[in-house]
Amino acid sequence: MKKILVTGGAGFIGSHLCERLLNEGNEVICLDNYFTGSKKNIAHLLKNPYFEIVRHDITMPYFIEVDEIYNLACPASPIHYQLNPIKTIKTSVMGAINMLGLAKRIKAKILQASTSEVYGDPLVHPQTEDYWGNCNPIGSRSCYDEGKRCAESLFMNYHQQNDVQIKIARIFNTYGPNMRPDDGRVVSNFIVQSLKGEDITIYGDGKQTRSFQYIDDLVEGLIRLMNTKGSFIGPINIGNPNEFTMLELAESIIKITGSKSKIAYHPLPEDDPMQRKPDINLAKKILDNWEPKIQLNEGLKNTIEYFKENTES
Ligand code: NAD
Ligand code: UDP
Repeated sequence: MKKILVTGGAGFIGSHLCERLLNEGNEVICLDNYFTGSKKNIAHLLKNPYFEIVRHDITMPYFIEVDEIYNLACPASPIHYQLNPIKTIKTSVMGAINMLGLAKRIKAKILQASTSEVYGDPLVHPQTEDYWGNCNPIGSRSCYDEGKRCAESLFMNYHQQNDVQIKIARIFNTYGPNMRPDDGRVVSNFIVQSLKGEDITIYGDGKQTRSFQYIDDLVEGLIRLMNTKGSFIGPINIGNPNEFTMLELAESIIKITGSKSKIAYHPLPEDDPMQRKPDINLAKKILDNWEPKIQLNEGLKNTIEYFKENTES
């Protein structure tokens, strides 16, 4: 049995990760300040005596003895991370310093939840890990993008300078149950709007693309990455390469829900990337032939079921 700390464990991804790690027989400590996370996501895990929750903000140091740390704490939706941009940067940068300092001291392995946003509005397509990205360092997304880029740099430096065992996952757009109805990201927005029969809000002309990964595929990838034994150090893309326009996504959700919702066009937010698709060849190689198993239609059906049960119409 390993003792594992999951920061941001009450959030969308963190709650699924905590559940899977517990099911695999580990002891799990979920740390969260509940900025975007919710106790509802993890309440069902509390009956397990090997699960513990800690209210804490990772911008402050935290001490505990564990074998592994998954560092997920950080708001991920643009509307949430832009509410308090300074806090968002502090969470990524000071949070990384605090967690890396802890990992160094207790000799724990540590995994960083980085993001495809480090590629910004990419000029290379699909994105490979050796692409340095095209980010606006002072735009409205920079608190998130640059915070995550700095965190990657810190992870590499702690490895090179202090021999900390690090893993960096560049996570591409992920969706599934436990997303908040008011999360603001595209999949949850479109599902909630469809179920309520409201207009589907497409930002821009809807021709921008994203590649959507179902949560279970991501969790499998993160755990495999944490458990890699080889000498590879560096970021690895974890995402589903099937790429869709936002219009295609809207049409799929309307079809599955049988909704009468109409499409309504809104202005495209500043610096909104036009395309995004992971190259996952490195992930396949390093993560023992890992690849996404759940494609959009199946994943959307599961997620729509969740929202039907958890959203008032
Ligand atoms: P989320 O907002 O649901 O979860 C983030 C969690 O971190 C929440 O529970 C929140 O309360 C907590 N948190 C935020 N600031 C904190 C702080 N200062 N101290 C302690 N806890 C704090 O988002 P998510 O989608 O579950 O994302 C989890 C991680 O994965 C984030 O680091 C995000 O950047 C990364 N990521 C997510 C996606 C995605 O598509 N969901 C894509 C790329 C990267
Ligand atoms: N988007 C949209 N309507 C919405 C929410 C988002 O058209 O109600 C668009 C958004 O402009 C972006 C894409 O969907 O082009 C993905 O947005 P999201 O916030 O989910 O993720 P990110 O931009 O961080 O990849």
